[in-house]
Amino acid sequence: MPELPEVEVVRSGVAEHVSGRRLAGVEVLHPRAVRRHLPGPEDFASVLVGRVVESVRRRGKYLWLSLGTSGAPDSGAPAGGHAVAGGQAVLAHLGMSGQLLIQPSRAADEKHLRVRFRFEDEGPELRFVDQRTFGGLSLTELIPSADLAVPDSIGHIAADPLEPAFDREAVVRLIRSRRTGIKRALLDQNLISGIGNIYADEALWRARLHWAHPTAALGDEQVHRLLDSVVEVLGEALVAGGTSFDSLYVNVNGRSGYFSRSLSVYGRAGSPCPRCGASVRREAFTNRSAYSCPGCQPVPSEPHW
Ligand SMILES: [Zn+2]
Repeated sequence: MPELPEVEVVRSGVAEHVSGRRLAGVEVLHPRAVRRHLPGPEDFASVLVGRVVESVRRRGKYLWLSLGTSGAPDSGAPAGGHAVAGGQAVLAHLGMSGQLLIQPSRAADEKHLRVRFRFEDEGPELRFVDQRTFGGLSLTELIPSADLAVPDSIGHIAADPLEPAFDREAVVRLIRSRRTGIKRALLDQNLISGIGNIYADEALWRARLHWAHPTAALGDEQVHRLLDSVVEVLGEALVAGGTSFDSLYVNVNGRSGYFSRSLSVYGRAGSPCPRCGASVRREAFTNRSAYSCPGCQPVPSEPHW
């Protein structure tokens, strides 16, 4: 499952290649890929023809292509603090195996090619490839907003820690007011988005906090330090991910791209902690695992498992 850094790598690659280009044709090769578009695949294709991809945006693990009607590329948010206009977008759910690829039109179809976007300029195509078809594309309305117009279907998703709209003070207060364990809070997309299992474990290790630490027992400073670690670990992963694709091929194949070489605790049960040398432990967490260091991240006195 791609997390924020992998999705951001895809977003920047797709944005570079499709922003400002007008769609000439959309071919749905597997109806399941657009199952969330209720009027059906033919309608999905026909409403998109002639539209210009103005920009490619992201919040957390969600990615969308904002559509306009003019040939001018998106000039960004209007000055003067006006709300960013609504409009429509194609929301991509990458699911477990979804990829967005930029390919020359002469390139052979991928085995699991589901949707093809051709452009008026006859340049490289945008292709949605998805082996397991858990992912998909849908047409969605954008909710006008002061900073980032987001698709209405993900309107409940909180800002992620890398976007300007992220209100750190408010998030610190919300985390401290919860009655839960800190890892559960970090994974709650209504509170803070874009953090999955891997980066939660890595950030908690950096902040020397056990994942079952009760949120209400954390001080302001501890939560700030943890959010610093989150930003740090996401930023480093982004840089590592940014080196793993070439200019004409963007994908989200890897669980964590090249960053997997830099993981300190995630997936490393039994290996020495890079900081203190203690053996990394794995504990059951919901239906998954939590990795931590028994030396640096002691179990709190009243854990919230
Ligand atoms: Zn340690």
